[in-house]
Order: sequence, then C-alpha cells, then structure tokens
Amino acid sequence: MKKGGNMARTKVVPSNSWRFKGNELKYIKEVLDSGFGSSKYGTMNARFERAFADRFGVKYAITSTSGTSTLHQALIAFGVGPGDEVIVPALTVIMCGYAVLYTGAKPVFVDVDPETFLMDPKDVERKITRRTRAIMPVHLYGQVCDMDAIMRIARRHKLYVLEDCAQCYLGTDHKGRIGGTIGHVGSFSFENTKHVSTGDGGILITDDKVLAERMRKFGCFGFKTVKAEGGQARGKVVKDNFQNPKWLRHDTFGFSFRMPETSAAIGLAQVEKINYLVKKRQQIAAKYLKAIKDTGCDWLIPQKVPVGYVNTYYTLAVRYEGETKLNVSWYDFRKKFMELGGDGIYAAWALVYDEPVMRLISEEGRYFKDLKPQAPTLKGFLEGVRCSQAERLQPKLMQFTANQGIEADMDLQINALKKTINHFQRSGLKN
Ligand SMILES: *Cc1c(COP(=O)(O)O)cnc(C)c1O
Repeated sequence: MKKGGNMARTKVVPSNSWRFKGNELKYIKEVLDSGFGSSKYGTMNARFERAFADRFGVKYAITSTSGTSTLHQALIAFGVGPGDEVIVPALTVIMCGYAVLYTGAKPVFVDVDPETFLMDPKDVERKITRRTRAIMPVHLYGQVCDMDAIMRIARRHKLYVLEDCAQCYLGTDHKGRIGGTIGHVGSFSFENTKHVSTGDGGILITDDKVLAERMRKFGCFGFKTVKAEGGQARGKVVKDNFQNPKWLRHDTFGFSFRMPETSAAIGLAQVEKINYLVKKRQQIAAKYLKAIKDTGCDWLIPQKVPVGYVNTYYTLAVRYEGETKLNVSWYDFRKKFMELGGDGIYAAWALVYDEPVMRLISEEGRYFKDLKPQAPTLKGFLEGVRCSQAERLQPKLMQFTANQGIEADMDLQINALKKTINHFQRSGLKN
C-alpha cells in the first residue's frame, strides 16, 4: 500500500487486542495439545479457579459461562425460589433482574444514591419484607457499594448478600476490603467489555464450602461427584465403578454452565496480569478527571468516590448537567465529542423495571407476546415500583470508555473531551 495520501486522514481505530498479549495463546495451545483433556497441570478450569481465588484471597472460585449464570447459581445456592424476594438496584443491567426471575423469585428494585450512583442502603431497609431472602449490591462502574451498611442490614434480617462485581475487579472499600469478598458470594463476568475477559464467561468466589458445592453442582448438571473444590464430573470415582450400568450420577438439579477449557486458558493468562488490566482503566479515568477539573467544568459530575475507596473504573461515569447549566442536550454533547475525535459516549441502560420485557412478565406473565403465559406466578411483581433518584439520574448519565491500552489512544479521548468542554463553555458564555 502507498504511504501518505489518504492514509494520513484515516481515523485511527484503537484496537482492543492489547488486552490479550500475555500467555493466552500459550495456554490455549496447551489445551488443544492435550486434546481438551487434563494436562499434566490439571485442567485449565482448575488452574484458572485456583489463580483467581488466590488473587482475591478466598477459598473457592467456580467458573461459569457468564456473569448472569453466576448470579443464577448463587441465588439457587442461597435457596431462593418462588415466593421469595431479592433486592436489586433499579439502575443496573437487566441481567440482575433476570437472574432473580430465573429462580421464580421476584426482584424488588431499590433506589440509588445520586452521588455514587450505587444501591442506597436506606431504600434497601425500607423495602425488606417477610419474603426477602437476599440483597444483590451491584458495584457499578468499578466502585464498591456501601457494604458496611448493606451487611449490617443483612445480618439484622438474616439475609444473604450476593455482590455483582461484573464491573468491579479488585475495587476496595474504605477498609481495604475487595468487592466480592465482603458478602456471602461475589460474582464476576468475563464478557468482552469487562476488565478481565475470556470473550464470554463468569466466575463465583466464596469462603463458604456449602455454597461453593451447591453453586458448582447447579452449574454442572448436579453430578453427585462434584464438590466445592471442583474437579471433574467424575470426581474421584474410579473408572471401574463409574462404568457400571447401575451407577447413578445425579443427586441434585443443575444447568450446563461449564466454562470451555479454551476460555479458562485465556482467563488464566488474564489473571496473571489482572493488576495491569485494572491499572489501565484507572489511568485513563484519572486523565478524564483531570481534564474535567482543569477546564473548570462544573456540569460533568463524576461518580463520587467516598474517602478511602478505590474505584477501578470499568468506565468513567458522570452525571451530565449541561442540559440545565448550558442548555446543551445530552445528545448534542455526545455528537460534538465524537466530531472532535471522541469514542461514543455510552448512555446508561434504561432502569431495569422500565424495559418492556419486565412489563410483559409483570402484566401478563409472558416471556413472548405471542405465546401462552410461561411465568404466571411472576405476575404483578412490578406493582408500585418507583425509584425517583434513579429515574432522575438515568437520563443524565454518560459513560466514557476506559479500555484504551496505550497512552496515545487515551490522550485522543482526553483531548476530545477538553475540546468539547471548551467548545460549550465558550458558547455558553455568549448566551
Ligand atoms: C456484564 C454484566 C453482567 C452480565 O454478565 P454477562 O457475562 O454478560 O452475562 C451482570 N451484571 C453486571 C453489572 C454487568 O455489567
């Protein structure tokens, strides 16, 4: 190809592949060379689980197919089922609500704090009933929720706590506790946008042996030989016993949530450099924050990080107040930012209870409009739901990307942000 000419004007598209330049290929090759069997080191899943558990300082780690199946597994291990309620923030991805519905229980949505954007413990307290079985704090955008308050409430009401850490790898609270190690179970997603990725996948961590065994068995067809520590469906049973027509395999119910060995291979390589993966996001977030400060911009209000907390910045989330302060719409700000070289700014997901599917289930007990009700017992679960802080906040949220691997890509975003801010501050003054 000829140099110069049009090339100079071609927009540089940052590649995301910088995240996978460690031992990923080497470990995948080990899996393939072993014919997907156990290598001499033990299976990749077992190695990945051990490495993950060690990094988080917990006894058990259990791989899974996604950060949604992990939530499902944890809730089942808590004993959650029809007639129960699980407390979930209104502002999060829909999967948090789905996981509760999978068990036949009802998600009860609680409000968020307008400064931290995270689950508001005071509203949790208000929404506890006789039927509440668990609380699901979601450490949104990379920041741990107010776990002191949430654990206090949980202890008082004897509730389980499931921390959704899909967006928060190694984030800590003011006591230095890592998100996912404070409640009964921590759940992580390896979907491609997260800090750590295997393409798709998930993992659960816990110190509780009973919960670990239940979660693992539920994710692996309920093989009776599956234990908390893991291993294979066959467990320690000698082959001669196993290959017997009288051998009974399944003593509990379960799904097929096993992570492929090739994904576990990627996961193992990713855990080896997890600090680096997290650092990169914190690095660009610090640059965004500095740009907002240096430009004297008081209409982009970043997610508040309480004293002593460490935010790991899945994205930099800000509350956009330019609509009232500058009379510039959310959409126009985004458009200008992109014109000036910025990535797309992501809008926050609609509140979970505002998604049409939630209304369909609540109003009609249906999964599909053109099929008979398949979830009749879930009817009415949205009755009276209202989270006013989340409703006010959601349309204002902007999520800036934080997955840049090199400084030049980061600075492209930072420069675009500075220019956009300056553009609107200047034109704002003229008004
Ligand atoms: C991504 C995500 C999930 C779902 O994870 P999948 O692996 O995509 O199923 C759950 N909760 C939160 C907060 C997430 O960001």
